[in-house]
Amino acid sequence: MELWYTEEHTPTVRFSIKVKKQLFGGKSPFQQVDVFDSEEFGRFFTLDGLMMLTEKDEFIYHEMIVHVPMATNPDVRRVLVIGGGDGGTVRELSRYKTIEKVDMVDIDEMVVKVCRELLPFTSNKLDDPRVTLYFEDGLKFVRTVEEKYDLIIVDSTDPFGPGEGLFTKEFYGNCCKILNDDGILVNQHENPYYDSYRASMRRAHRRIEDFFPICRVYQAHIPTYPSGHWLFGFASKKFDPLEIDAEAWNALGLETNYYNTDIHRGAFMLPNYVKRELELE
Ligand code: SAM
Repeated sequence: MELWYTEEHTPTVRFSIKVKKQLFGGKSPFQQVDVFDSEEFGRFFTLDGLMMLTEKDEFIYHEMIVHVPMATNPDVRRVLVIGGGDGGTVRELSRYKTIEKVDMVDIDEMVVKVCRELLPFTSNKLDDPRVTLYFEDGLKFVRTVEEKYDLIIVDSTDPFGPGEGLFTKEFYGNCCKILNDDGILVNQHENPYYDSYRASMRRAHRRIEDFFPICRVYQAHIPTYPSGHWLFGFASKKFDPLEIDAEAWNALGLETNYYNTDIHRGAFMLPNYVKRELELE
Protein backbone atom coordinates (compact mmCIF):
# COMPACT_ATOMS: atom_id res chain seq x y z
CA MET A 1 0.00 0.00 0.00
CA GLU A 2 1.29 3.48 -0.89
CA LEU A 3 1.75 5.89 2.00
CA TRP A 4 1.56 9.65 1.37
CA TYR A 5 2.13 12.60 3.71
CA THR A 6 -0.39 15.31 2.86
CA GLU A 7 -0.39 18.82 4.24
CA GLU A 8 -3.18 21.32 3.78
CA HIS A 9 -1.62 24.59 2.62
CA THR A 10 -5.05 26.23 2.28
CA PRO A 11 -8.54 24.73 2.55
CA THR A 12 -8.36 24.07 -1.23
CA VAL A 13 -4.65 23.37 -1.77
CA ARG A 14 -2.76 20.29 -0.61
CA PHE A 15 0.89 19.30 -0.84
CA SER A 16 1.87 15.61 -0.76
CA ILE A 17 5.08 13.61 -0.49
CA LYS A 18 5.26 9.87 -1.04
CA VAL A 19 6.54 8.28 2.15
CA LYS A 20 8.90 5.31 2.25
CA LYS A 21 8.49 4.80 5.98
CA GLN A 22 7.31 6.58 9.11
CA LEU A 23 10.26 6.67 11.52
CA PHE A 24 8.57 8.26 14.53
CA GLY A 25 5.14 9.42 15.64
CA GLY A 26 4.38 10.70 19.13
CA LYS A 27 2.45 13.31 21.06
CA SER A 28 4.35 15.61 23.40
CA PRO A 29 2.53 17.83 25.92
CA PHE A 30 2.70 20.56 23.24
CA GLN A 31 2.29 19.03 19.80
CA GLN A 32 2.22 15.98 17.53
CA VAL A 33 5.77 15.10 16.43
CA ASP A 34 6.35 12.96 13.30
CA VAL A 35 9.40 11.95 11.28
CA PHE A 36 9.16 10.27 7.87
CA ASP A 37 11.55 9.03 5.22
CA SER A 38 10.95 9.73 1.52
CA GLU A 39 12.55 9.17 -1.87
CA GLU A 40 12.58 12.80 -3.02
CA PHE A 41 13.23 14.79 0.17
CA GLY A 42 14.99 12.25 2.37
CA ARG A 43 13.97 12.39 6.03
CA PHE A 44 11.46 15.02 7.01
CA PHE A 45 10.01 16.26 10.26
CA THR A 46 6.55 17.69 10.93
CA LEU A 47 4.82 19.23 13.95
CA ASP A 48 1.02 19.07 14.18
CA GLY A 49 0.97 18.01 10.52
CA LEU A 50 3.00 20.98 9.28
CA MET A 51 6.37 20.69 7.58
CA MET A 52 9.31 21.86 9.70
CA LEU A 53 12.17 20.62 7.56
CA THR A 54 13.29 18.10 5.00
CA GLU A 55 16.78 16.68 4.60
CA LYS A 56 16.89 17.96 1.01
CA ASP A 57 15.95 21.63 1.43
CA GLU A 58 16.61 22.50 5.11
CA PHE A 59 19.92 24.14 4.14
CA ILE A 60 18.05 27.03 2.53
CA TYR A 61 16.09 27.98 5.65
CA HIS A 62 18.97 27.47 8.09
CA GLU A 63 21.58 29.26 6.00
CA MET A 64 19.27 32.22 5.42
CA ILE A 65 18.16 32.57 9.03
CA VAL A 66 21.80 32.53 10.26
CA HIS A 67 24.19 33.93 7.65
CA VAL A 68 22.14 37.04 6.84
CA PRO A 69 22.46 38.46 10.39
CA MET A 70 25.99 37.07 10.83
CA ALA A 71 27.25 38.78 7.67
CA THR A 72 25.52 41.99 8.76
CA ASN A 73 27.34 42.08 12.10
CA PRO A 74 30.45 39.86 12.03
CA ASP A 75 31.13 40.73 15.68
CA VAL A 76 28.20 38.74 17.07
CA ARG A 77 29.37 36.83 20.14
CA ARG A 78 26.30 35.96 22.17
CA VAL A 79 23.26 34.42 20.50
CA LEU A 80 19.81 33.40 21.71
CA VAL A 81 17.83 30.93 19.59
CA ILE A 82 14.14 30.63 20.39
CA GLY A 83 12.69 27.35 19.10
CA GLY A 84 15.12 25.70 16.71
CA GLY A 85 14.78 22.24 18.33
CA ASP A 86 15.97 20.36 15.23
CA GLY A 87 19.39 21.99 15.70
CA GLY A 88 19.81 23.31 12.12
CA THR A 89 20.15 26.93 13.25
CA VAL A 90 22.70 25.99 15.93
CA ARG A 91 24.62 23.95 13.34
CA GLU A 92 25.06 27.01 11.10
CA LEU A 93 25.92 29.27 14.08
CA SER A 94 28.54 26.81 15.30
CA ARG A 95 30.57 27.45 12.14
CA TYR A 96 31.53 30.92 13.41
CA LYS A 97 34.60 30.78 15.64
CA THR A 98 33.85 34.28 16.93
CA ILE A 99 30.60 33.18 18.60
CA GLU A 100 31.21 32.57 22.30
CA LYS A 101 27.80 31.50 23.55
CA VAL A 102 24.54 30.17 22.14
CA ASP A 103 21.49 29.71 24.36
CA MET A 104 18.74 27.70 22.69
CA VAL A 105 15.25 27.71 24.21
CA ASP A 106 12.76 25.20 22.84
CA ILE A 107 9.47 24.53 24.58
CA ASP A 108 9.50 20.85 23.61
CA GLU A 109 12.17 18.44 24.84
CA MET A 110 10.67 15.65 22.74
CA VAL A 111 11.52 17.55 19.53
CA VAL A 112 15.19 17.77 20.50
CA LYS A 113 15.32 14.13 21.59
CA VAL A 114 13.74 12.84 18.38
CA CYS A 115 15.86 15.10 16.16
CA ARG A 116 19.07 14.06 17.92
CA GLU A 117 18.18 10.45 17.18
CA LEU A 118 16.72 10.67 13.68
CA LEU A 119 17.97 13.92 12.13
CA PRO A 120 21.73 13.97 12.84
CA PHE A 121 22.28 16.19 9.79
CA THR A 122 20.67 19.10 11.66
CA SER A 123 21.19 18.15 15.31
CA ASN A 124 24.89 17.25 15.12
CA LYS A 125 26.15 20.48 16.71
CA LEU A 126 23.80 20.64 19.69
CA ASP A 127 26.65 19.29 21.84
CA ASP A 128 28.99 22.13 20.91
CA PRO A 129 30.35 23.31 24.31
CA ARG A 130 29.25 26.88 23.54
CA VAL A 131 25.60 25.76 23.39
CA THR A 132 23.24 25.62 26.39
CA LEU A 133 19.79 24.10 25.94
CA TYR A 134 16.75 25.29 27.90
CA PHE A 135 13.40 23.55 27.68
CA GLU A 136 10.85 26.25 28.34
CA ASP A 137 8.49 28.66 26.65
CA GLY A 138 10.50 31.33 24.81
CA LEU A 139 7.86 33.92 25.72
CA LYS A 140 8.55 33.31 29.43
CA PHE A 141 12.32 32.97 29.00
CA VAL A 142 12.73 36.48 27.54
CA ARG A 143 10.63 37.96 30.39
CA THR A 144 13.12 37.01 33.05
CA VAL A 145 16.54 36.24 31.54
CA GLU A 146 19.28 38.53 32.78
CA GLU A 147 21.73 37.92 29.92
CA LYS A 148 22.26 40.35 27.05
CA TYR A 149 22.62 39.10 23.49
CA ASP A 150 23.98 40.42 20.19
CA LEU A 151 21.60 38.34 18.10
CA ILE A 152 18.23 36.67 18.70
CA ILE A 153 16.99 34.16 16.12
CA VAL A 154 13.35 33.14 16.41
CA ASP A 155 13.19 29.76 14.68
CA SER A 156 9.63 29.04 15.69
CA THR A 157 6.50 27.29 14.53
CA ASP A 158 3.57 29.29 13.15
CA PRO A 159 1.58 31.95 15.04
CA PHE A 160 -0.86 29.46 16.54
CA GLY A 161 -0.47 26.63 19.07
CA PRO A 162 2.72 26.75 21.20
CA GLY A 163 4.37 29.32 18.89
CA GLU A 164 1.59 31.92 19.21
CA GLY A 165 3.27 33.92 21.99
CA LEU A 166 6.41 34.36 19.86
CA PHE A 167 4.54 36.72 17.53
CA THR A 168 3.25 39.08 20.25
CA LYS A 169 4.18 42.63 21.11
CA GLU A 170 5.22 41.53 24.59
CA PHE A 171 7.70 39.04 23.14
CA TYR A 172 9.26 41.51 20.68
CA GLY A 173 9.50 44.18 23.39
CA ASN A 174 11.38 41.80 25.71
CA CYS A 175 13.67 40.71 22.85
CA CYS A 176 14.49 44.37 22.26
CA LYS A 177 15.27 44.79 25.99
CA ILE A 178 17.70 41.87 26.17
CA LEU A 179 19.56 42.82 22.98
CA ASN A 180 22.70 44.94 23.18
CA ASP A 181 22.72 48.42 21.63
CA ASP A 182 23.74 47.00 18.25
CA GLY A 183 21.52 43.91 18.56
CA ILE A 184 19.72 42.11 15.73
CA LEU A 185 16.47 40.11 15.81
CA VAL A 186 15.65 37.70 12.98
CA ASN A 187 12.48 35.66 12.79
CA GLN A 188 10.67 33.37 10.40
CA HIS A 189 7.93 35.48 8.87
CA GLU A 190 5.61 33.03 7.11
CA ASN A 191 4.73 33.04 3.41
CA PRO A 192 3.34 36.09 1.66
CA TYR A 193 1.42 34.24 -1.03
CA TYR A 194 -1.62 32.61 0.55
CA ASP A 195 -4.24 34.85 2.18
CA SER A 196 -4.34 32.83 5.38
CA TYR A 197 -0.68 33.60 6.18
CA ARG A 198 -0.41 37.15 4.84
CA ALA A 199 -2.25 38.91 7.65
CA SER A 200 -0.16 37.26 10.37
CA MET A 201 3.04 38.17 8.51
CA ARG A 202 1.96 41.81 8.31
CA ARG A 203 0.88 41.93 11.95
CA ALA A 204 4.22 40.51 13.11
CA HIS A 205 6.10 43.03 11.00
CA ARG A 206 4.08 45.95 12.44
CA ARG A 207 4.68 44.82 16.01
CA ILE A 208 8.43 44.54 15.47
CA GLU A 209 8.52 48.02 13.90
CA ASP A 210 7.30 49.46 17.21
CA PHE A 211 10.61 48.53 18.85
CA PHE A 212 13.39 48.61 16.25
CA PRO A 213 14.55 51.54 14.09
CA ILE A 214 15.66 49.27 11.23
CA CYS A 215 13.09 46.73 10.06
CA ARG A 216 13.29 44.84 6.81
CA VAL A 217 11.94 41.67 5.29
CA TYR A 218 13.89 39.21 3.18
CA GLN A 219 12.92 36.15 1.21
CA ALA A 220 14.06 32.70 0.15
CA HIS A 221 12.75 29.92 -2.00
CA ILE A 222 11.94 26.89 0.17
CA PRO A 223 10.26 24.18 -1.94
CA THR A 224 8.49 22.30 0.87
CA TYR A 225 6.95 25.29 2.68
CA PRO A 226 3.52 26.59 1.64
CA SER A 227 3.84 28.31 -1.77
CA GLY A 228 7.63 27.81 -1.70
CA HIS A 229 8.07 31.54 -1.07
CA TRP A 230 9.22 32.24 2.47
CA LEU A 231 9.92 35.46 4.32
CA PHE A 232 12.17 36.33 7.23
CA GLY A 233 11.98 39.45 9.38
CA PHE A 234 15.17 41.39 10.09
CA ALA A 235 15.10 43.99 12.88
CA SER A 236 18.06 45.86 14.20
CA LYS A 237 19.05 48.66 16.53
CA LYS A 238 22.01 49.77 14.44
CA PHE A 239 23.07 47.62 11.47
CA ASP A 240 21.46 47.90 8.06
CA PRO A 241 21.60 44.48 6.38
CA LEU A 242 21.99 46.14 2.98
CA GLU A 243 25.34 47.56 4.04
CA ILE A 244 27.42 44.47 4.50
CA ASP A 245 31.13 43.98 4.10
CA ALA A 246 30.90 41.18 1.52
CA GLU A 247 34.66 40.78 1.31
CA ALA A 248 34.95 40.22 5.05
CA TRP A 249 32.26 37.52 5.02
CA ASN A 250 33.76 35.83 1.95
CA ALA A 251 37.16 35.84 3.65
CA LEU A 252 35.74 33.56 6.37
CA GLY A 253 35.74 30.79 3.75
CA LEU A 254 32.45 29.23 4.88
CA GLU A 255 31.10 26.82 2.31
CA THR A 256 27.37 27.25 1.79
CA ASN A 257 24.80 25.78 -0.59
CA TYR A 258 22.33 28.67 -0.87
CA TYR A 259 23.64 31.75 0.90
CA ASN A 260 26.17 34.04 -0.70
CA THR A 261 26.64 37.76 -0.39
CA ASP A 262 24.84 38.45 -3.71
CA ILE A 263 21.82 36.42 -2.52
CA HIS A 264 22.06 38.39 0.75
CA ARG A 265 21.52 41.70 -1.03
CA GLY A 266 19.03 40.30 -3.54
CA ALA A 267 16.91 38.67 -0.84
CA PHE A 268 15.87 42.10 0.46
CA MET A 269 14.52 43.12 -2.98
CA LEU A 270 10.88 42.17 -2.65
CA PRO A 271 8.19 41.65 -5.29
CA ASN A 272 5.65 44.49 -5.54
CA TYR A 273 2.78 42.46 -4.10
CA VAL A 274 4.82 41.77 -0.97
CA LYS A 275 5.90 45.39 -0.66
CA ARG A 276 2.29 46.52 -0.97
CA GLU A 277 1.18 43.99 1.64
CA LEU A 278 3.80 45.20 4.10
CA GLU A 279 2.70 48.80 3.59
CA LEU A 280 -0.96 48.03 4.39
CA GLU A 281 -2.16 49.16 7.81
N1 SAM B 1 11.83 25.83 10.40
C1 SAM B 1 10.55 25.57 10.92
C2 SAM B 1 9.44 26.26 10.21
O1 SAM B 1 9.45 27.48 10.05
O2 SAM B 1 8.52 25.55 9.81
C3 SAM B 1 10.45 25.76 12.37
C4 SAM B 1 11.44 24.94 13.06
S1 SAM B 1 10.92 24.01 14.44
C5 SAM B 1 12.52 23.71 15.01
C6 SAM B 1 10.24 25.19 15.54
C7 SAM B 1 10.45 24.89 16.99
O3 SAM B 1 9.82 25.92 17.77
C8 SAM B 1 9.87 23.57 17.48
O4 SAM B 1 10.92 22.75 17.93
C9 SAM B 1 8.91 23.95 18.62
O5 SAM B 1 8.93 23.04 19.69
C10 SAM B 1 9.47 25.30 19.00
N2 SAM B 1 8.52 26.19 19.70
C11 SAM B 1 7.20 26.40 19.41
N3 SAM B 1 6.68 27.27 20.30
C12 SAM B 1 7.67 27.62 21.15
C13 SAM B 1 7.74 28.48 22.27
N4 SAM B 1 6.67 29.16 22.70
N5 SAM B 1 8.93 28.60 22.92
C14 SAM B 1 10.02 27.93 22.48
N6 SAM B 1 10.00 27.09 21.43
C15 SAM B 1 8.85 26.94 20.76
